[in-house]
Amino acid sequence: MSRRYAVTVRGTVQGVGFRPFVYRLARRHRLAGFVRNSTGPVEIEVEGEPGSLRGFLEALRREAPPLARIEEVEVLALAPRGERDFVIVASQARPGDFQSVSPDAATCEDCRRELFDPADRRYRYPFINCTNCGPRFTVIESLPYDRPRTTMRRFVMCQACRREYEDPADRRFHAQPNACWDCGPRLALWGEDGPLATDRPLEEAVEALRRGLVVAVKGLGGYQLACDARNEAAVRRLRRRKHRPGKPLAVMLTDPERYCRVSAGEREVLRGPAHPIVLLDYRGGLAPSIAPGLRRLGVMLPYTPLHHLLLDGFAGPLVMTSGNLSEEPICRTEEEAWERLRGIADRFLVHDRPIAARYDDSVVQVAAGAVRVVRRARGLAPEPLPLPAGPPVVATGAHLKAAFTVGRDGRAFVGPHVGDLDHLLTVQAFEEQLERYRRLFSVEPERVACDLHPDYASTRIAERLGEPVRVQHHHAHLAGVLAEHGLEPPVVGAALDGVGLGPDGTVWGGEVLLLEGASYRRLAHLEPVPLPGGDRCAREGWRMAAAYGLDRPPPGVDGVRFELVRRLAAGGRVPWTSSMGRFFDAVASLLGVCQVSSYEGEAAALLEAASDPGVDEVIEVELEENRRLFAELVRRHRRGEPASRLAAVFHNSVARAVVAACRRAGVRRVVLSGGCFQNRRLLESCWAGLRAAGLEPYANERVPANDGGLSLGQAWVAMRCG
Ligand code: ZN
Ligand code: ZN
Ligand code: FE
Repeated sequence: MSRRYAVTVRGTVQGVGFRPFVYRLARRHRLAGFVRNSTGPVEIEVEGEPGSLRGFLEALRREAPPLARIEEVEVLALAPRGERDFVIVASQARPGDFQSVSPDAATCEDCRRELFDPADRRYRYPFINCTNCGPRFTVIESLPYDRPRTTMRRFVMCQACRREYEDPADRRFHAQPNACWDCGPRLALWGEDGPLATDRPLEEAVEALRRGLVVAVKGLGGYQLACDARNEAAVRRLRRRKHRPGKPLAVMLTDPERYCRVSAGEREVLRGPAHPIVLLDYRGGLAPSIAPGLRRLGVMLPYTPLHHLLLDGFAGPLVMTSGNLSEEPICRTEEEAWERLRGIADRFLVHDRPIAARYDDSVVQVAAGAVRVVRRARGLAPEPLPLPAGPPVVATGAHLKAAFTVGRDGRAFVGPHVGDLDHLLTVQAFEEQLERYRRLFSVEPERVACDLHPDYASTRIAERLGEPVRVQHHHAHLAGVLAEHGLEPPVVGAALDGVGLGPDGTVWGGEVLLLEGASYRRLAHLEPVPLPGGDRCAREGWRMAAAYGLDRPPPGVDGVRFELVRRLAAGGRVPWTSSMGRFFDAVASLLGVCQVSSYEGEAAALLEAASDPGVDEVIEVELEENRRLFAELVRRHRRGEPASRLAAVFHNSVARAVVAACRRAGVRRVVLSGGCFQNRRLLESCWAGLRAAGLEPYANERVPANDGGLSLGQAWVAMRCG
């Protein structure tokens, strides 16, 4: 007795080889029917013996392909039709529906093997891929995911590729970017004056790298700048040309263990489908100016066939950093790269597969027992995150590390890191991506959320979309953790951060809040201090030392300027702040660790790196006794105690104060967020302290604790309002 079921599968099931998998599974269980993609879920109808149907449904989840993420399977009984065959039918677009497609995935083991197999027809082909790996959102122009709606549409598959593409038993069945030497994209090499006549672009790029030159490489989601990571002169040249004096540079290599200590958890995420940059404990061996003053290094494995070939040819670690100027968006087209990277790169290794959207490399770290995203982009965005059910929503984030969220039907799609919104180019890239995400996921917002700050470009973008819910910055940081972990208020939270506007007009950033419903109560915070020079204080940390009452200039700071700033602070006619980030800046200045930051958060990163991991001494202070803690550090510093010890004591004491303030709220669940929690030492000390106090800590994992994760929290609050 035959039965027929309609099976609807939701989740990330497009672009991951799900249809061929269903096809093979149905055949194996001798079932008839069909499978098809739509702009919504994957739709299956299967007909056959009840036992076979059961077997099919069980295997559907258990044996799903590696990149698939099944969220929901719905089964409905239908009348049997007496069909005999199982087929894959054409995609169906349903207006208004949406679908999660897998993010871009690193070259799989099978493809890597073929890439280096002289007998394979794709031997050394720089664009090899299959349904288990390769580009996705960097080539998708619209959904559903099919070749004509990707930037691969300009390449007509040769017979051999077409055969693979149409054979359900093949690993490349419906692999949309499928290509080979005969029919697919090709590399080319450009020099300072334009295209070079060469039939060995890859080999010549490798030779340029060997000679210490800077090569711009057209990667997956944009251009990268590469140079020899062991050649100090090359690294310095890249830094000078890119106007990036101090910010650490990421390195791409095949043997991370040679230069870094790698834990099991770190190894797993290094090799996972996203292949992000992972912050690892650095042991040395590379050019000194790769990550000056830091103990950790951003490392990634090659994740495209082109990277594999480059590293195979170069046989050593390469600096691989975003192809942009400081915090501008990463270059996407040849024209952009040519215009903006000429003068930085000596050679351009380019190809003719267009990049549909910018995706910078993602950055993660393993801290307090979990993988935590620091920058969310390539390979991670736009993997859906949970959101309370409600109307379609757009949230626009803040100002730094801009990333938006579009949400609908209980899912949030957090857009990729774009950069800081004080560059016109970044604002344009942000709007371009937001437009794209709204189109891809059919989001016509009925709710809009933004920051409380009236002057952010993100606030103005939100105002053009509707009447926004204005969410206090640190409330949004903490709400993001609720969204990620599906937590319900009441929850107590510590938001330790740079700056965000408070409803009282002062600048907040060292806050303990009790989250209740869609709102919050401010339980504790740092005692506000003056911000002498406003926004300049974030860069010139010594200003904060003056604000905290240091009475003589730290080494390297001009005495006259210091005195002026000191008087400005004492006058009090400047903005005031309870920012924890600015407290870190003040201490970094006092201890002579950093006076002027060349990138956001540098002082705090250097202070963490300077702190002695073996020191567990604590000064008992309350959160609002920041001035007393600073004064104590000044006293001990003058007594000649080493900076490494005092930096450690500072971290420990802040963590202790935070734990005590959270504990007083009398709520078991504690959420931690804000940019300061990128500091692994601070996060892990708070974590351990909260656990020891019998509390249950939660922190960001899939979105950054910094402002890159803010829009998710704003969306969460917007869903709870009204
Ligand atoms: Zn593959
Ligand atoms: Zn081909
Ligand atoms: Fe923030």
